[in-house]
Amino acid sequence: MINRMKKFIERFLLPQIFWVLASVLTGLVAAAASGLGVPLMIKFVFPVVFHQSGQPEPELMQYVPQLAEMSSRTVLLLACASLPAIFIVRGLAMWINTVVVNVLGIRLLESLRTAVFHHVQQLPLAFLEGKRKGDIVSRVVADTSKVQTVLSHVSNDLVKQPITCACALFAFIWLLINNGRWEMGLVMIFVGLAAWPVINFGKRISVKSLRAQEGLGELNTVVQQNLETQREVRAYAMEERQIESFEQASAHYCRNTVKLVKYQRAIIPIMETVTALALSFLLVTGSLFGMSLDGFMALAAAMFFAFDSMKRAGMAFNRFNEAQGPMQRLADILDEPNDIDDPENPLTMPERVKGDITFRNVTFAYDGCKPVLRDVNVSIPAGQIVGLVGPSGAGKTTFASLIPRFYEVTEGSVLIDGMDVRDVTRHDLREQLAIVGQQALLFAGTIRENIALGREGATEEEINVAADAARVSAFLDSQPQGMDTVLGQGGSGLSGGQRQRVAIARAFVKDAPILILDEATASLDAESEKEIQQELDSLAQGRTTLIVAHRFSTLRNAHRILVFDHGRIVGDGSHAELYESCPLYRELYDRQGAVAPHENEA
Ligand code: ADP
Ligand code: MG
Repeated sequence: MINRMKKFIERFLLPQIFWVLASVLTGLVAAAASGLGVPLMIKFVFPVVFHQSGQPEPELMQYVPQLAEMSSRTVLLLACASLPAIFIVRGLAMWINTVVVNVLGIRLLESLRTAVFHHVQQLPLAFLEGKRKGDIVSRVVADTSKVQTVLSHVSNDLVKQPITCACALFAFIWLLINNGRWEMGLVMIFVGLAAWPVINFGKRISVKSLRAQEGLGELNTVVQQNLETQREVRAYAMEERQIESFEQASAHYCRNTVKLVKYQRAIIPIMETVTALALSFLLVTGSLFGMSLDGFMALAAAMFFAFDSMKRAGMAFNRFNEAQGPMQRLADILDEPNDIDDPENPLTMPERVKGDITFRNVTFAYDGCKPVLRDVNVSIPAGQIVGLVGPSGAGKTTFASLIPRFYEVTEGSVLIDGMDVRDVTRHDLREQLAIVGQQALLFAGTIRENIALGREGATEEEINVAADAARVSAFLDSQPQGMDTVLGQGGSGLSGGQRQRVAIARAFVKDAPILILDEATASLDAESEKEIQQELDSLAQGRTTLIVAHRFSTLRNAHRILVFDHGRIVGDGSHAELYESCPLYRELYDRQGAVAPHENEA
């Protein structure tokens, strides 16, 4: 915890040191104005105003002898002006303090939020797949905004109130010594009494806030999953069940929020009772000691400010504890190690690799699961078009995912042009690859923007050529704004085949030496598949291409076929060879015989 605090301070607070100092400084002025200013006014200025001739000279006259020479009217005027003067200073300082502290809070949170989002981009896919997306969204957005709200509410109190309290206590002690009544200092016991609920409730509050934020994460997850699967929800009439799980998550969140408020607000009556006790203690002892009214009033004011600021500091501390839960959840993400880190001294990849791919003794298991690839050895020379076939779950997608280093091999190594993928930066590595998956993932934006994503700095010309090659152009007429038609999230507004063409155009623009097609046409109807097959064939030309095939018809151009079964390669060769020698291949092929009458031409 201490270590984490230190890291947090170094990383986020130090860069804002100007704002930190400014908030402490303005807090100090505001605090001194109330904690010291008011009690000392009562002690020194009031006696000058209410001074009656014949009584001993007020103390202030001894410090400021010029006062004696002024007319009583001027003194009165000065005295009256001093009260608003103190409050103007206090008010101004408080206002500036609040603004400064808020700026600090907002800047802190902005850098925290960005840091978390940045870190999420680097985290291993395995980590993100293990978490629910809604919960991560909730952390990046809701938890940071919770911390921000809390900070902006409490941070000036966190700075100002303890200082006010210290000033008031200082004034109190000074007044006691001045009066020679140190026994009245016993009232300090009440200070200890007041600290107890603050500390005790603080712990409960941070636990409840963690629960509440978890509830919010849960709520987000439910909503997010629900929105992503609306078709299924309706098709299977799952609305009621979805509403039920939403209500549960919501109730969970509400329960913890109510508990939070309960603990937070309990501190107010407790502190006020303690303050009243302390004041009556002062009243009794003061009268026993025969104190003067102004002496007593000054003491009581100092005491009041001390307790009042303690109450406010306690409330701020409590609210601050409320930020601990979300802070914890953010820290959890920031602390998550990026185990697929770039090497310290990466090898430089050539601008464009040849595209040889080698798997050497590769074994791979998803986190804590049984291996899904076992001792895979295969070498794919540059420019070869390779089909991957095998029953579903055999490990084809996993095999292909190891090349862009989406996951780290458990044993063995994956090499591109003889370079271990762990020895180059992920950025350099992924520059060399284009991937078209089963579902074309499009972003909200125009068709043109979605194609341009293929490569940074792609020219208009290149985008148009790619659009032609992928035959995106063919359906542009049916789009309201052609290439500038804005697509919704996930590419809504286009049919599956059209989306896939945009994804293929993107791969054309990228023009990478290695191409991975993972069941790129599986979600399409036979007609669209046939059409798109030609675009894919031309895309594959001149590249090392892996085609994970669900239908043998997609392999008509493959030079070589790898047969996967239970994480192993059980067949490697041309169609004719495999049909002869590999029973699994023959079985798979024959099952589809009617659909795929092609003979492999290679
Ligand atoms: P294929 O593409 O050949 O159908 P996959 O490579 O997708 O097969 O999956 C191989 C095995 O790995 C399957 O048993 C599957 O359940 C498992 N698997 C796939 N993805 C993950 C994942 N993210 N986490 C854990 N297990 C996974
Ligand atoms: Mg697959």
